[in-house]
Amino acid sequence: MKTAIVGAGAAGLACAGRLRAAGEDVVLFDKSRGVGGRMATRRVDGLSFDHGAQFFTARGDAFRETVSGLVAAGACASWGSDERSVGVPGMTAVPRALAEGFEIRTEHTVSGLRRDAAGWTLSTAEGAEAGGFDRVVFALPSPQIVPLLAASGYALPGIESAVYAPCIALLLAFERPVPGIATEAKFDAGAIVWIARNATKPGRDAARETVVVHASADWSRAHLDLEPDASKPLLLAAFRDATGFADAPTYAAVHRWRYALVETPAGAPAFFDSELGVGACGDWCIGGRVEAAFDSGLALAAMITEEGAAA
Ligand SMILES: Cc1cc2nc3c(=O)[nH]c(=O)nc-3n(C[C@H](O)[C@H](O)[C@H](O)COP(=O)(O)OP(=O)(O)OC[C@H]3O[C@@H](n4cnc5c(N)ncnc54)[C@H](O)[C@@H]3O)c2cc1C
Repeated sequence: MKTAIVGAGAAGLACAGRLRAAGEDVVLFDKSRGVGGRMATRRVDGLSFDHGAQFFTARGDAFRETVSGLVAAGACASWGSDERSVGVPGMTAVPRALAEGFEIRTEHTVSGLRRDAAGWTLSTAEGAEAGGFDRVVFALPSPQIVPLLAASGYALPGIESAVYAPCIALLLAFERPVPGIATEAKFDAGAIVWIARNATKPGRDAARETVVVHASADWSRAHLDLEPDASKPLLLAAFRDATGFADAPTYAAVHRWRYALVETPAGAPAFFDSELGVGACGDWCIGGRVEAAFDSGLALAAMITEEGAAA
């Protein structure tokens, strides 16, 4: 059986890995240039910033075993405490390691699907088509899956109940370390919830001070439609207020995550319509964490292979 997986983040890659282990053929599609989704690292001018997921924890056996393997392979190490892991030398090292050996079509923004006697065919915004799939898995934020399915006349009831909060991230570089913050700082009130000294993560260039600032969900919602050039000075001012550090950054950029963190999960490990052969997984099923996305991908793969065994 051949499965198309749309989305090569933690959920899509976990699903792909489990399906491959069960002997299935898998092709992944992702709209970005690389894999990882919100497990993201931006590299610019010799600087590197993990501007999405900051670290991850592994509480369940399945993800713990995967993380142990990644640590042994040098793609992952702990940061700040033994419970918190990060990719090395950047967060994307983790999805890249999970993606090894797969056929992955990047820069393919899936925009439609149709079914005929030969199976499912996907079409992309870039004008490509790929067909002959027995099943299609959507491993994207649910608010992106719902309209995509609807545009092709399909639906997966229940997935629309998940709610995301946005997050606006400010990426900064300085000529000297931000004083008063060892690795990261959390804030309960105000525009900013999180400041991380990215350069303190293992395998980064410790000589280049790089900082990731995350705005709160409320602030991000209120400012999401501002152009980055307009929100950048506002967030920089909030950073200065929060830290008392007023050096001019040598680099400053804003990244807007429209679907960043899950506020209300859908409450099921994954969704699969066995009649249609269409499934959906992602952090939005269980909760806004890398491990939740991974577990959701595994859950969907289990539903698919169990259905195959029962048929
Ligand atoms: C700012 C921020 C901070 C976070 N901090 C943490 C943290 O500290 N710890 C933690 O555990 N988690 C954190 N998270 C959450 C974590 O990153 C996510 O839970 C997890 O990475 C989600 O994985 P996923 O596979 O479900 O989705 P995603 O990573 O979003 O993957 C979806 C993929 O689908 C692709 N895609 C979308 N639309 C299409 C399309 N039409 N066609 C093809 N491809 C498409 C995207 O390019 C993407 O690669 C954070 C997230 C953000 C944004």
